[in-house]
Amino acid sequence: MSVSVLADMLRTKKCSARELLNDVMERAKAVQTELNCYVTFNDKAVQAAEEADRRIAAGEDISLLTGIPVAIKDNISTRGLRTTCASRMLENYIPPYSATAVERLEAAGAVITGKMNMDEFAMGSASDTGIFGAVRNPVDKSFSSGGSSGGSAASVAAGAAVLALGSDTGGSVRQPASFCGVVGFCPSYGSVSRYGLIAFASSLDRIGSFGKNVRDTFYLHNTINGYDIKDVTSFRKNFSHELTGELKGLRIGVCAEMMKACTDAEISDALEAALKEMEKQGAELVDISLPSIKDSVKAYYIISSAEASSNLARYDGVRYGFREQNIVSIADMYKRSRTEGFGDEVKRRIMLGTFVLSEGYCEAYYKRAISCRRRITYDFERAFEVCDIIAAPVYPRAGIELDNRIPATDMYAADIFTVPASMAGLPAVSVPCGRSSSGLPIGLQLIGRRFADNDVLDAAYGYELTGGAAWQ
Ligand code: GLN
Repeated sequence: MSVSVLADMLRTKKCSARELLNDVMERAKAVQTELNCYVTFNDKAVQAAEEADRRIAAGEDISLLTGIPVAIKDNISTRGLRTTCASRMLENYIPPYSATAVERLEAAGAVITGKMNMDEFAMGSASDTGIFGAVRNPVDKSFSSGGSSGGSAASVAAGAAVLALGSDTGGSVRQPASFCGVVGFCPSYGSVSRYGLIAFASSLDRIGSFGKNVRDTFYLHNTINGYDIKDVTSFRKNFSHELTGELKGLRIGVCAEMMKACTDAEISDALEAALKEMEKQGAELVDISLPSIKDSVKAYYIISSAEASSNLARYDGVRYGFREQNIVSIADMYKRSRTEGFGDEVKRRIMLGTFVLSEGYCEAYYKRAISCRRRITYDFERAFEVCDIIAAPVYPRAGIELDNRIPATDMYAADIFTVPASMAGLPAVSVPCGRSSSGLPIGLQLIGRRFADNDVLDAAYGYELTGGAAWQ
């Protein structure tokens, strides 16, 4: 059921928050062995649900999310509740504070169900690089849920949570949403506070929202967004408005380079069918060009790894995190704690990032990547002179088979459709738009102007209303 239906049931006492939580947790536990979405269940959830019931009964000023079960990706800090980043490094870490997004959810009366499985430190695309094992896709268990926010996406798809928070650095909310057939929204950089989100690549990291439909996702995003004094990059303006779903006159940019790069016929067909539906409702299609996106994957992996190598330097076995006990010197402790504490993918990125920042190579790699990022941003600015929103695929394939590992570089290359919006800090959503012949969901990506978060959600809502993804 959607959030508004559930909120209505809670208000009219057709069910209590406690009962709703019970239902969701029963479902979560039933699918846990198969899907592996949860890393930790929140043992204070019942207390939170009871508090929500008390607030509803007392007729207090409550929000739509009061009593609604929400799952949180395990790289978003939750006070008193283990937050592991799916890494041995933080396996036993219990944060002394909560992320601002979590605080806002709790203030709204949402019930935190638990912490969701992911790729280690959010580095990956199949939620299979972490210490807790892969997350399976509820639609087809031989496939990955996608990643890195796989646990969050799969839990919403499977009814093991009503809503979920994830993080998106280069596509980690949009891609798993597309794979699991749910809505995943990556807001403008700066519209949701990053305070308490454990850093991967600070200039790219964003907290995103998952829901079963656009409206649910909109409610979640609009609960957590807004200025926060604890994040200097958070933005003051509030562009909030209601969803109308109006597509008439909306100029949708179709990017020649992206359409060309989309070699899977089922994905381009689904995308074209979605565009036709939107055109029928009065939207206008315009051809646009984003020439610089051809370099975006390379630039993204240079910049994100450079920032990761710096951010992850803090895990030295001293202040917190994993510490190897069997050591001969302080240098040995650093080395062995990091060797044992991090997995292969994280190490690969730390090494790559350290290399591209090193003297003599920095000009050739890091600085060129930064100028590429600027060109991508400029390309988008020009495109938005002639269109209001850009439609694109989310991923070149409809899914990633779990037991059929592809080389890391191929996995990186497949981020081609999600990293451009990441590099430019633009809001982007994935909304279900069809299925492959084998039944795997396909997402439509809509990218908007900086801070036009709700316009992006509104366009997605307009598409959803056409019934184009009626298979759901
Ligand atoms: N697949 C991308 C990566 O591995 C995206 C990760 C993310 O957005 N956290 O970096």
